Amino acid sequence: MNKKPIKRVVIAGGGTAGWMAAAALAKLLGKNLSVSLIESDDIPTVGVGEATIPTLHIFHRLLGINEQEFMAATNATFKLGIKFENWKAQNDDYIHSFGFLGQGCWAAGFQHFWLKGKEKGMVTQIGDYVPEHLACREGRFAVLANQEQNHAYHLDAGLYAQFLRKIAEQHGCKRVEGKIQTVTLNEDSGDISSLTLASGETVEGDLFIDCTGFRALLIEQALHTGFEDWSHWLPCDSAVAVQTTAKPNPVPYTRSIARDAGWQWRIPLQNRTGNGLVFCSKYVSDEQAKAALLANIEGETLNEPRVIKYKTGTRRKHWNKNCIAVGLSSGFIEPLESTGIHLFQRAIVRLMLMFPSNGIEQADVDEFNAQSRADVEDIKDFIILHYHQTERTDTPFWRYCKNMPIPDTLAHRMDLFAGTGKVFKKAEELFGETSWIQVMLGQGIMPKQYHPIVDMMSDDELQRFLNNIKANVKRKVANWPDVNDFIRHYCQSQAAQ
Ligand SMILES: Cc1cc2nc3c(=O)[nH]c(=O)nc-3n(C[C@H](O)[C@H](O)[C@H](O)COP(=O)(O)OP(=O)(O)OC[C@H]3O[C@@H](n4cnc5c(N)ncnc54)[C@H](O)[C@@H]3O)c2cc1C
Repeated sequence: MNKKPIKRVVIAGGGTAGWMAAAALAKLLGKNLSVSLIESDDIPTVGVGEATIPTLHIFHRLLGINEQEFMAATNATFKLGIKFENWKAQNDDYIHSFGFLGQGCWAAGFQHFWLKGKEKGMVTQIGDYVPEHLACREGRFAVLANQEQNHAYHLDAGLYAQFLRKIAEQHGCKRVEGKIQTVTLNEDSGDISSLTLASGETVEGDLFIDCTGFRALLIEQALHTGFEDWSHWLPCDSAVAVQTTAKPNPVPYTRSIARDAGWQWRIPLQNRTGNGLVFCSKYVSDEQAKAALLANIEGETLNEPRVIKYKTGTRRKHWNKNCIAVGLSSGFIEPLESTGIHLFQRAIVRLMLMFPSNGIEQADVDEFNAQSRADVEDIKDFIILHYHQTERTDTPFWRYCKNMPIPDTLAHRMDLFAGTGKVFKKAEELFGETSWIQVMLGQGIMPKQYHPIVDMMSDDELQRFLNNIKANVKRKVANWPDVNDFIRHYCQSQAAQ
């Protein structure tokens, strides 16, 4: 192991991942470190990745980022969930919102009360018991003082990288422009010792962060770390993306519309809409995918459709030798639940918690890799659920997804919910009970029974209990302003400062 103190961190790549890492390391550890970032103007960033989840607040709080300033700078809109259209069946939809579901008791979550209520004809859709779900449908939004409302953003990825770059440079990060041509390894340790650019310039470092995207220039091309392929569970391997003019009064959620061999996203920003079609090339050619996307967009196109190729899976180690992969270089699951940026920030925060100032310890590396692995495993199962649990058999793609073998861990969760209505979140898992419940119900799993503790309530008590929760949700959301009025005011008042 490299027992040299770590004084120089070199970040390779300046996409979302690179600038997130640079801003965090420079701002929070920059007094004791030299941080530099190399990016090439000749190699474009992947240019997508514009929907986020609420955990981004943690990263922004850590960096002291002001929400209004960030939203104005990145043309961001608020996101309260994702609407899944045609996933369970054609012309069927449901919302996975970011909120918490109703009110449970020590023994049983709210879904058990709702399930009995459903049996007795006392309830409406599950989303009526989650404020963020109702707010998605009514287009309302509020920033609440005690953060009791959960929201994320749709943002312009290019502007976000620029926004973070400013923070990184203000805190001493040195940007080096140039194409990395050679990665030099130390002959004895096998560690990376330097990166040489096309100009001939050499950048030496003690710790290297690989943010070179799918190229994985350091972690894979130089260190041959290995990749675990998950395409048998997540068969989509391509996307085509195009931007269109903005629609007035956009919705506060991402739209995910299942198509014949994949799905389409619509991500509304203040000034434009991001569109894309994720697809499986076994069933659809690039040209067919482009045509299918262009046939299903609104507004004028602002650029040429661009095809992106990828393989779903994970790097076998995210930290190998003195190199840590952050971003697409570490692997890619699927953009379906907007978890990419979340995983980048988890890796960055984890690195700071384990920062090897006095030299790299194998125990730190092993712990980092185990935690990274757990993060992606749980997310992977949640994403597979959307594809596998479907009634669709109308195309070869959906027949494959419906019949494919799934991980035992996911099969267990689905069986547990289907049989008993129970859902348990693992300690460090990203998606909580409300997420699993909304998606499992939305995809068509209806539990056979509810927890018997619900029978402690009489039918009248249950009806009152359910009605009260629903009325509270309705009252609360009715007080929230229109989301687009809110954004205009919020971002304009920032611009005026
Ligand atoms: C289709 C698709 C949709 C996605 N949607 C979402 C989403 O909605 N939400 C989400 O959270 N995530 C999403 N992601 C995942 C991820 O957030 C984005 O893709 C993100 O923008 C990727 O950032 P990156 O920094 O890892 O890679 P990139 O953007 O590819 O950046 C790579 C950087 O490395 C540099 N580089 C590469 N090679 C060299 C070299 N030889 N020399 C110098 N520099 C080099 C490039 O110049 C560039 O700066 C999506 C991914 C895909 C593929």
